[in-house]
Amino acid sequence: MKIYVAVDMEGIGGIIHTSQLMKGEGMYEESRRLLTDEVNAVVEGLLQAGATEIIVRDVHATGINFVPDRLHPGASYFMGATSFKERFPGIDASFDGAFLIGYHAMAGVAQAVRDHTYSSRSFSSVKLNGRPVGEIGLDGLLLGQYGVPVLLVTGDDKTCEEAKQELGQGVATYCTKKAWGRHSALMIPPQRVRTEIKEAIGEAIRNRAECRPHRIEGPYELTVQYLSTDLADGRYCDGVQSERLDGLTIRTKDTDLIRLMSRGI
Ligand SMILES: [Zn+2]
Repeated sequence: MKIYVAVDMEGIGGIIHTSQLMKGEGMYEESRRLLTDEVNAVVEGLLQAGATEIIVRDVHATGINFVPDRLHPGASYFMGATSFKERFPGIDASFDGAFLIGYHAMAGVAQAVRDHTYSSRSFSSVKLNGRPVGEIGLDGLLLGQYGVPVLLVTGDDKTCEEAKQELGQGVATYCTKKAWGRHSALMIPPQRVRTEIKEAIGEAIRNRAECRPHRIEGPYELTVQYLSTDLADGRYCDGVQSERLDGLTIRTKDTDLIRLMSRGI
């Protein structure tokens, strides 16, 4: 059984604040250890559940957040930045499922830890075919393009709610914290998270037949609202496939979802 694991940082146990999330910030080094230890628990849980091949992809910021010599030897790890087209390097139809670990709610959700969609500095909202969408929905769709269903999503309580809404009730979720605000939450201690997440993985693998690859029929329309006109100015619009709707908003159209995401985000 082959499982692809995408790992973000905001939804990891013990993490709630910017100072924990960005390279160079005071608490970042400690957070890298929290992140790596939770990843190790995921790999251990997957091996216990029968996985034979595991690729773990670091999707947070530059993609270089794991502490390499602390990583569990039972998986391969993809680190570093890529273009959107290759958001999940090595993914193909041979994978039985994917996990989204340490994820967060889409931009604009109330009482959600570090709610955003791909970048808190660039986008105030992203819509697909007129409907607000976040990283859970869009990453689920990218994985769905390869026929790979999302089996488990972890993060705060709003992340878990969004996962069920976007991917269907069959997806398993595990809540690492109950969000109070953008930078506050009732935390489950990371040590407990690392035990409980293995139980959630066992359940997700047992119930995997209930999950289908996430797909929406094309053609697609991605509407991105930027936080400043400067950012929108930096995007070329041809007036046909991509249009500047107002100072802050650009709409991109395409029949191919992966190409759309590469052009529109
Ligand atoms: Zn993210």
